[in-house]
Amino acid sequence: MIYLDYQATTPLAPEARAAMLPWLEGPEGIGFANPHSPHRAGRAAVAAVEVAREQVAALLPPGGRVVFTGSATEALNLAIFGCGAKSFAVSTIEHAAVLDTVEARGGACHMLACTRDGLVPADAPIPAGTGLVAVMQVNNEIGTIQPVDMLVQAAHDAGALFLCDAVQGAGKIAPPEQADMIALSAHKLYGPKGIGALWIRDGIELAPQIHGGGQEQGLRSGTLSPALCAGFGAAAALAKARMEQDAAHVEDLWNRARDLMAGWTLNGSADQRWHGNLNLRREGLDVARLMSDLRDIAFSAGSACASGSGRPSHVLTAIGLDAAAAKSSVRIGFGRYTKLSELEDACARLEAAAAAQGVYS
Ligand code: PLP
Repeated sequence: MIYLDYQATTPLAPEARAAMLPWLEGPEGIGFANPHSPHRAGRAAVAAVEVAREQVAALLPPGGRVVFTGSATEALNLAIFGCGAKSFAVSTIEHAAVLDTVEARGGACHMLACTRDGLVPADAPIPAGTGLVAVMQVNNEIGTIQPVDMLVQAAHDAGALFLCDAVQGAGKIAPPEQADMIALSAHKLYGPKGIGALWIRDGIELAPQIHGGGQEQGLRSGTLSPALCAGFGAAAALAKARMEQDAAHVEDLWNRARDLMAGWTLNGSADQRWHGNLNLRREGLDVARLMSDLRDIAFSAGSACASGSGRPSHVLTAIGLDAAAAKSSVRIGFGRYTKLSELEDACARLEAAAAAQGVYS
């Protein structure tokens, strides 16, 4: 299997796995202890959680605190429901974890449209009276990098807080320095699934959304998993240490794949983009057939339509593609552990499978 779906999830880094194992052991080891227990075993576990918190915080701006959650989705829910805002401005290309949560929260919502390149204009007007603006750092479908710093300024000028979904950018590019809240997810940066975090700038108070034992500074009750925290922390530390190296590797992969797929059209900006995301289309391509012909290559249909929901992707629609163009799009996602040879192999086979459909460049 050639794995090219790094936006859906990344492989677990061996270093993250190694950091997790001591906190899963029992009955002889003490790693299974509850990190909220006051005895020695519990104190050892909570110490591991706090080391992990610092490692995750090191990926984020200074002057804030990290609250562990079960996922980035939960972190975004905590921010949106917890901040007390009653009116919102969000980009049309946000993940469902933002769009559906704002809808569930209720209240006025102003949609910030993006260009055909998949970018929210840096000077997008924010309506006066907006309580919370949410724009993601890197789009998960097309990889475009949003002008977050300028949008934060516009939000602050309008008196609003700014929430950044940095799930696809964290550990890969510099954090959104000026944002008020930042959501991230371990499994998109080579950590384990089942843990995310919300970074909250000092001075911002949120209302808890999960009630109970008062863990996580009273904001997110529930027993933490030291193993998941340790895995997240180790993955974050590794991502920070390897950021340039990982980006250089991704750049090599991108350049080669772009050459090999020269007959395909890129969806979204080529420059303002995380280059581990290659979202491409070919007119007339039947993506469902392509996926069934290439079952041993894990890639994604560029459109939710082809993956079964029946609706074209809201992101591809937002950049102006019609349903047919959205349906003929694929997303190829690669990263730290992708070998050049396997990407070359996959590109050649995608090209041949498209040609077998009679779809030529
Ligand atoms: N935001 C973005 C941009 C994502 O890509 C994802 C996951 O696909 C999420 C949020 C949700 O992350 P999690 O799986 O941690 O809930």
